[in-house]
Amino acid sequence: MSGPVLVTGASGFIGAHTAAALLERGHDVRATVSGEHRIPDVRTALGGLVDGGADVEVVVANLEDPDAWTVPTAGCSDIVHLASPLPVEQPKDANELIGPARDGALRVLAAAREAGVRRVVMTSSAAAIAGSKSDTPERVYTEEDWTDLDVPGVSPYNQSKTIAERAARDDVEANGGPQFVTVNPGLVLGPVARPEVNASIEVVYRLLAGKVPMIPNVGFDVVDVRDVADLHVLALEHDDADGGRFPATSEFMWFTDIAAVMRDELGDRARKVPSRKAPDLLVRALALVDGGIRTILPELGQHRTLSSQTSIDRLGWTPRPAREAVVDCAESLLAHDLV
Ligand code: NDP
Repeated sequence: MSGPVLVTGASGFIGAHTAAALLERGHDVRATVSGEHRIPDVRTALGGLVDGGADVEVVVANLEDPDAWTVPTAGCSDIVHLASPLPVEQPKDANELIGPARDGALRVLAAAREAGVRRVVMTSSAAAIAGSKSDTPERVYTEEDWTDLDVPGVSPYNQSKTIAERAARDDVEANGGPQFVTVNPGLVLGPVARPEVNASIEVVYRLLAGKVPMIPNVGFDVVDVRDVADLHVLALEHDDADGGRFPATSEFMWFTDIAAVMRDELGDRARKVPSRKAPDLLVRALALVDGGIRTILPELGQHRTLSSQTSIDRLGWTPRPAREAVVDCAESLLAHDLV
């Protein structure tokens, strides 16, 4: 079936790069945003990333609106579903994230079936695979693993991604379609397409802007947003991808590694980047007053890595070194005068 690819959440950090990558591959794109106020943002971001990007078709469709998805989906060949709340601070009530993430995904899938869409690629997360604390301090996960929601302390965001992916897979199985694939990224860094700091690049922003005097003992699998966008395109186009779960990670980095890369590569522009590690006790104390720090508390000292070998072997994906994602992220924050 011909017709545009619907890209939900195209106003976001990953969504803009993914829409641009699809346009570069020659797909037509129809972008969705949560409200009218985001339309100029999509145009600015896409215009800066790809020739003709500013002219893309943009429609409003909120995940929380049950009636919003039929019209944007009509006539689309495929869907890349990225939209989902990713807050800097975790809400007290997990349902604030679970509702839009799960119900939004189910609404998109229902509209996809109605419109005869061939394939839906959904952006899930490493949070749906390795989002619960492991018994061992170091563990390597694969796409076979799922976050265990019975383990205490799973964050509202990790709950939302796990529940949404499971609900979407169950829905597709129960209804016999459409084709369904997930991309499961780690911590996404890399260049911002416009002057906005989303939750994942908050770490680079805070370090570069000198907002933290010391560095918490926390690390994640880092991946570049351009590679995550490419993996979405591969997941959409590859004949054998149906049903797959494709991790998107490059290398594990402690926040101290991220800080060190910035100090190495940015010279005087990294003068505010701290070098001292914060004792865990201090981080726990600061978390009492700083919601952003509270978010990373469950990750203190955890070295959980997610292997992307399946994405490399099955889809021919080639992520760049994590170091490049860090440097290009920092450079883009500086270029956009965010720091
Ligand atoms: P952003 O916060 O930059 O983007 C989130 C996107 O979701 C925005 O386009 C936003 O739309 C949209 N959205 C949120 N709530 C709603 C809603 N109620 N209705 C419609 N749209 C909504 O984050 P990212 O680009 O980083 O995240 C994109 C996806 O990738 C998410 O699914 C996220 O969970 C996932 N992910 C991100 C990772 C990361 O490290 N960044 C890691 C793993 C997964 P609007 O701007 O119009 O409000």
